[in-house]
Amino acid sequence: MPLPDIIQSRDLKSIARKVEEDRPISSADALTLLTASDILDLGAMAHHIRTRMHGRTTYYGVNRNLNYTNICELRCPLCAFSKDPGEEGAYLLSLDEIEKTVSRAVTDGLDEIHIVGGLHPDVTLDYAEEMIRTVRRVGPGLFIVAFTAVEYDYFAQKSGLPVEQVLKRLIAAGVNSLPGGGAEIFSPDIRSRIAPKKISGDRWLEVMRTAHHLGLKTNATMLYNHVESSGNIADHLLRIRKLQDETGGFKTFVPLRFHGANTGVREKRTVSGYDDIRVYATARIVLHNIPHIKGLWMYLGDKIAQVMQHFGVDDIGGTYHQEKVVHAAGAATPDYGSEPFLRRLIENAGFEPKRATAGYSS
Ligand code: SF4
Repeated sequence: MPLPDIIQSRDLKSIARKVEEDRPISSADALTLLTASDILDLGAMAHHIRTRMHGRTTYYGVNRNLNYTNICELRCPLCAFSKDPGEEGAYLLSLDEIEKTVSRAVTDGLDEIHIVGGLHPDVTLDYAEEMIRTVRRVGPGLFIVAFTAVEYDYFAQKSGLPVEQVLKRLIAAGVNSLPGGGAEIFSPDIRSRIAPKKISGDRWLEVMRTAHHLGLKTNATMLYNHVESSGNIADHLLRIRKLQDETGGFKTFVPLRFHGANTGVREKRTVSGYDDIRVYATARIVLHNIPHIKGLWMYLGDKIAQVMQHFGVDDIGGTYHQEKVVHAAGAATPDYGSEPFLRRLIENAGFEPKRATAGYSS
């Protein structure tokens, strides 16, 4: 049966036609979706796209986080993870400690390391390069997802080199892909309240454009559930879609639900499952040109992550040993999930689990 015929809401039928024909929806359409109460219609449209791309496969990763430092010059109001130098709990991992962590990851049979940290005044481009070389030496087969656009910009500033050179050096050292962090919400007004010292949305997009031109595939993120409006969310999604039309370099989009504990920003809403569903389904529908939508079970909780597979999600994230960032902000999930646990979440919702790295080649 044609997709528009199974859509109950009259307001959503014209959007469903675009979805069926794989045409981009407008900003006004995105706003309609973000405020729709007919979530089963949203689900039908999002599921249509995820099924067209991936059938019933849902991906998960066997990976480990390496948060190499929590010392950060920016101290964004949204962040519960960062510390000042000398503050209790502040740390910078030495190359020896990094080597030990990676050795354990190799022994444990992990596929991927995810490296992000704060903007530490002593972490130079040379140190970052050494860090990646260490990981590559100890785990030659590991897929390395490393440094947000914010960190690449910081290394460029500190070294006086263009970001393109910084990326080239770190790719040569072993980086395979970029995580999508630091995108937050592109609106300058919202950014000035949640992360005033962070690079602008335009600069974030420019770093990603450069990475894509160098042949890297990257993630993109969006932080929601703080002080943004639905209009800010629509704007963010459309700007990501535009860059994807230009470069084709985004392989995954990851909506991140903001957790406000221990931060200087209060959540806008009491978190509701309906809000999560609207955001994820809308992202799947707007970003019809990006292959994967990741619903990190650690951010959403395992139950909502399961449900989200019917609303556009085809990747529920990884095992994430020792995740620190969202847990510092009050996430109630464990900081580790075993592979059987992740496979059960997928199978129990009627999907077929497939282990993969962020490159989706395995
Ligand atoms: S969000 Fe990132 S850049 Fe901002 S304070 Fe935290 S670690 Fe630093």
